[in-house]
Amino acid sequence: MLNPDLSDIPRGRGIFCNRTLNMRSVRAIGYDMDYTLVDYRVDAFERMVYAQARERLLSEGWPMEGLDFDPGMVTRGLVIDTELGNLVKANRFGLVKRAMHGTRMLEFTEQRDAYAETLVDLSDSRWVFLNTLFSLSEGCLFAQAVDLLDRGALPRPFEYASLYRQVRARVDAQHLEGHLKAEIAAAPERYVVQDPASALALLDQKLSGKKLLLITNSEWSFTSKMMAHAYDRHLPGDMTWRQLFDLVIVSARKPIFFTEQGPFFEVVDESGLLRPMTGPLRPGGTYLGGCAAQVERDLGVSGDEILYVGDHMFGDVHVSKRSLSWRTALVLRELEAEVSALESYRPTELRLIALMRDKEALEAQLSLARLTLQRLHAGYGDAPDHADTGHAAEAEARVHELRNQLVALDAVIAPLAKAGSELTNPRWGLLTRAGNDKSHLTRQIERYADIYTSRVSNFLHATPYAYFRSPRGSLPHDPSTLEHPERDPGL
Ligand code: IMP
Ligand code: MG
Repeated sequence: MLNPDLSDIPRGRGIFCNRTLNMRSVRAIGYDMDYTLVDYRVDAFERMVYAQARERLLSEGWPMEGLDFDPGMVTRGLVIDTELGNLVKANRFGLVKRAMHGTRMLEFTEQRDAYAETLVDLSDSRWVFLNTLFSLSEGCLFAQAVDLLDRGALPRPFEYASLYRQVRARVDAQHLEGHLKAEIAAAPERYVVQDPASALALLDQKLSGKKLLLITNSEWSFTSKMMAHAYDRHLPGDMTWRQLFDLVIVSARKPIFFTEQGPFFEVVDESGLLRPMTGPLRPGGTYLGGCAAQVERDLGVSGDEILYVGDHMFGDVHVSKRSLSWRTALVLRELEAEVSALESYRPTELRLIALMRDKEALEAQLSLARLTLQRLHAGYGDAPDHADTGHAAEAEARVHELRNQLVALDAVIAPLAKAGSELTNPRWGLLTRAGNDKSHLTRQIERYADIYTSRVSNFLHATPYAYFRSPRGSLPHDPSTLEHPERDPGL
């Protein structure tokens, strides 16, 4: 199963590194379950959450008829603006680069008027970041609810912020009440993506001497069903998923699992019977609740010896890094489509880079020609005699000619740039980019995730002995390889 030729592995299945991480120094690896160890078919899962929340709203008199889940309407990494009823995409500085009011994309001028003086600041409750693939149903439902509110179609008026709370409460309820989980547990093959390589990757890690921990917010009954469904068939002999883990912690209540000192309960049988904890965590035990500080204490591992792998930007990665300085890995399923779209776009991107260089040169010439004209008119600097109208006419013609050339060049550039801005999602473009820059999601990944990858099974090829090295960071004043595309190794 171990592929000896790493060049066969698609680039999108790589493990990407922000901060150097030597896997040999990692003594314990904690895994999140949902969308990390267990990968779901997003469309099926979110459609179901959406449908159940919609039913609930219908029963409360909301006119939800004719509305359906649209998987392309929102993406992870967008931000809900609960004040204006918008969804926005921000760049790494918090500048809004695209916005949608209800389900309608804003024109550039509308967007500029709404956000010219506003930066997205996630510490302000006005903004709600879509942290995980579980956020898609909520984002879609909120956008559609804003349309209903604007049309005056809701049973009573709401502020957008209160509308958001209503939608959020309905989606939240689907996760917390048993119905959704019961449906999924009854037909897991419809929702769970099987990835045999994941079981082998975990086995490699365990047998290399690392302690494996499962730390999930899901409750015991759902966890045991999903893990058995996703792992048992791929493990050797009679081995079950339970034997992979030195500790299993369910209903962990992340993010506060990482920041507070909640008590552990022991799960003593398959039915989920609980008993209060006495003494330290027992190797091989299954627990509910608790806190990360006790995990560190009882396992005898310090923050930088634990790698935590999860899909929730805030609850798994941001908080474990910020509060406990754990090493962190973000699982970003969308990365595979993202990388493959970037690879297909690469020839166009190189052409665009060359055209932009031409445009910059033309702009510089135009600036110079305008300055020459200004000096001629005002008669200063090293301009020829200002009374010489021949010189002025010549300079004016040059300005005119350069302007025309720029207009023609822009007509070539525009469709190429537009294609780049619509990669993977016509409304929002790539998850990791915003305009020409890094997206707000990318900024958070850089800050909090030491490594990131599309799925857990990518660790298989990396092996438990890998040394991930961060690339040398680039700065605007660096000599650019893009100035010499012929030398670009990506070609
Ligand atoms: P984890 O990713 O393994 O920690 O588990 C995530 C758990 O959180 C799953 O049981 C989800 O059903 C649940 N979950 C996801 N979104 C929401 C929400 O909006 N409200 C409450 N629970 C949620
Ligand atoms: Mg998760």
